[in-house]
Amino acid sequence: MPQLHVHLVPIFDEIVRRNPGESEFHQAAHEVLESLGPVVQKHPEYADAEVIRRLCEPERQIIFRVPWVDDAGRTQVNRGFRVEFNSALGPYKGGLRFHPSVNLGIVKFLGFEQIFKNALTGMPIGGGKGGSDFDPKGKSDAEVMRFCQSFMTELYRHIGEYTDVPAGDIGVGGREIGYLFGQYKRITNRYESGVLTGKGISWGGSLVRTESTGYGTVFFVDEMLRDHGDSFDGKRVVVSGSGNVATFAIEKVHQLGGRVVACSDSAGYVVDEDGIDLDLVKDIKNGRRGRISEYVNERTGAHYVDGGSIWDVPCDIALPSATQNELGADGAAALVRGGVKIVAEGANMPTTPDAIRVLREAGVMFAPGKAVNAGGVATSALEMQQNASRDSWTFEHTEERLSETMRAIHDRCLETADGYGTPGDYVVGANIAGFTRVADAMLALGVI
Ligand code: GLU
Repeated sequence: MPQLHVHLVPIFDEIVRRNPGESEFHQAAHEVLESLGPVVQKHPEYADAEVIRRLCEPERQIIFRVPWVDDAGRTQVNRGFRVEFNSALGPYKGGLRFHPSVNLGIVKFLGFEQIFKNALTGMPIGGGKGGSDFDPKGKSDAEVMRFCQSFMTELYRHIGEYTDVPAGDIGVGGREIGYLFGQYKRITNRYESGVLTGKGISWGGSLVRTESTGYGTVFFVDEMLRDHGDSFDGKRVVVSGSGNVATFAIEKVHQLGGRVVACSDSAGYVVDEDGIDLDLVKDIKNGRRGRISEYVNERTGAHYVDGGSIWDVPCDIALPSATQNELGADGAAALVRGGVKIVAEGANMPTTPDAIRVLREAGVMFAPGKAVNAGGVATSALEMQQNASRDSWTFEHTEERLSETMRAIHDRCLETADGYGTPGDYVVGANIAGFTRVADAMLALGVI
């Protein structure tokens, strides 16, 4: 790992000591601290007020039991989390993830990333994250509902439109947000629309929220291309995943004239040289909740690779949009051999530090998730605005706001990277621009 500035070494050591075994949190923290050396040098006031040390310690961490009864009448027990990381800029904001891999370290890494991502949007939202090791896969609707009701029976006392506003993430979509909101409403006897985002359109949701993370990812890359006098027209694109982010990234790439030739799920990947048939993917994943391998049953020209690495498929642009650390050094080397020019993270921290190094050394443009995938949470903030004003905007207006926000984040990253003597470095730009906005608010608010 690259050297940290001398002020930052004890802070990182403290993170490792205080949070044993939380490797993803260590990784996310190290990646941000690596960028902050020049900031500490330029702004001694941050060090004097221990802003970075305070920022690395969550304001509050909640861990709770989630008991529920399955369809066979057996009692099940899961663990629930909500890490309220930083509220200097606004109420804690960030998704809930339901996946067997969820533990405190994963939630903390996601919450930490969320602070900077949310700051980068320029909107009034702090950072938080939550979830459970519950696996919605293979569960009936009734089981998912009972789980969500039990989860909210504890969570409701910690959240609120001015306190903490959860949303979806992996394993939490419209269905889960519905059950969660229903239980919150029932317990509190308040129709408090602004307490959760990602709601259905007829009960307080925002148009474009479903599409926003995927669309925003592509708007960001479009801006990277435009900055080099280029466009999506005719580009070969590989998108890992086939969930919410991947699906709508594929849709927007196709709208902008590119061709997505491969996507995946946790079991394997499909290659379709004619361009991925998105209606079919949506039907398999959302309609039937099936596996991506089913794709080849209906598209004769396509082929499916069980296991394997989607990064072996040659492309101009790769959008890792599945999960953390899905793209390692070998995958990055394969992408470089395949002629990749841009790697932009649709998921949170999908690229390992080794992989980023391989891409950088090969001169590939790389943009981090906290900038690239910020469109989801930015549109959540737009949903909160609509809830607060009891208004609902058109699809066109909301998409325009999303597009403007993504282009502004892109420019903020590049201007900041320029200002700190590392032109074109989106990682440094995103980390410093996000950090300074939060840090300035923390200084203004005193030692709290
Ligand atoms: N889970 C999404 C993210 O990683 C969205 C969070 C939100 O809308 O609050 O940013």
